[in-house]
Amino acid sequence: MADAATAHGVQPAKPQVRAWGDELAGFEEASSRGRLVVRRCDACLHLQWPPRSACQSCLGGGFDWVEIGGRGHIYTWTEVHRSSLEDFAGSVPYIVCIVEMDESPDLRMLGLLEGGTVPSIGVPVHGSAVSTGTAAPTIRWTLITDGDEFAENR
Ligand SMILES: [Zn+2]
Repeated sequence: MADAATAHGVQPAKPQVRAWGDELAGFEEASSRGRLVVRRCDACLHLQWPPRSACQSCLGGGFDWVEIGGRGHIYTWTEVHRSSLEDFAGSVPYIVCIVEMDESPDLRMLGLLEGGTVPSIGVPVHGSAVSTGTAAPTIRWTLITDGDEFAENR
């Protein structure tokens, strides 16, 4: 039995994922060397992710890539059981987190949580950029527990 959309000749929109563009080339290059970077506005030094054509703070248009420490706290998360992204469809279920980075509460980054543990809001994590060669940048988060090398710097 067809659902309402296909019964009327309307095909559901296929999810569109942008290919790597110039604005993400710096992220991909840094990821290939194991570095996690974001863009920093030349004019006001605002850290910005994801890359946009204008600074969210001053509307400036010049940016540099800067490395960040990778530490943050889970702002929110969800568990995905059916992925619309072809690259991740074979990995379900997985947990996607938005992490508020230690560098700035305005800097929030999306990525996958390693380990399959259901997290709590606010728990500390560490992120690593992963070069996948796919259409979407990938950050892998790991929970920071007491005894981790990163826990000592809290
Ligand atoms: Zn700016």
